Amino acid sequence: MSFWLPGSGRWDLHSERNAEPAAIAEIQDVHNKIRTMSLQAGTRDRRVWVPDPDKGFTVRGAYDWWSRALPPVPAIQGKARALWKLKVPLKVKVFLWLALQDRLLTKARRARWRSQESELCVLCNEDRETTFHILCECKFSCSLWARISTAIGRNFTFNSLDDMWDVGQQLCNTAGGGTRQLVAGAVVPATTWVIWRTRNGVIFRGHTAYVENAWEDIGGLLHEWGRCLAGASHVGVVGDQLRLGS
Ligand SMILES: [Zn+2]
Repeated sequence: MSFWLPGSGRWDLHSERNAEPAAIAEIQDVHNKIRTMSLQAGTRDRRVWVPDPDKGFTVRGAYDWWSRALPPVPAIQGKARALWKLKVPLKVKVFLWLALQDRLLTKARRARWRSQESELCVLCNEDRETTFHILCECKFSCSLWARISTAIGRNFTFNSLDDMWDVGQQLCNTAGGGTRQLVAGAVVPATTWVIWRTRNGVIFRGHTAYVENAWEDIGGLLHEWGRCLAGASHVGVVGDQLRLGS
């Protein structure tokens, strides 16, 4: 990131000249935080629990600190609460939580730090791979969302990641409970998870992305997470399960 210049008492930030202004601003923010620290030769390092340096770590102290650190935005807290309640694996919840906050390590995000890297989406080779692009507007992803739309008999469009989340919540809230609600709540997590896994397969394992395979994977996950869905053709069954209002 930056280099400490021995003897000068300061950091060299010039090595970041290829990074975007926003990335440089983040680095400078960290730089400002550490600039006032002073190190003493011969003094041993020790761990300190900042909220309570005398008593050390306590669960109560951690909870107080966490409560204060949480952003006072009810929408975010409400979303987090709904997300943690979903009956999907923890790793998928974490993935979706990062995605909804635009924190996935997409190619566009990586290129902020490494300007020589390509930002191109590997699923369509047409646009910058941002979180919104890869999960919502990429041709590949749109094919999957269109199939879901047909399967459940509902039209929807996403103008933002929040839109995508809201559609998932509406599906969940109108599913009427039981297995249907379980499956409805898993549609957005399963679809986004499969899209991201497909993308990773292309980048890291040289796989080819096929909509048909991804569609089968989504059906498989909904079957697995919904548990009670029966039948060999998972996607068809999922469609029946989710055909709301029928
Ligand atoms: Zn794309």
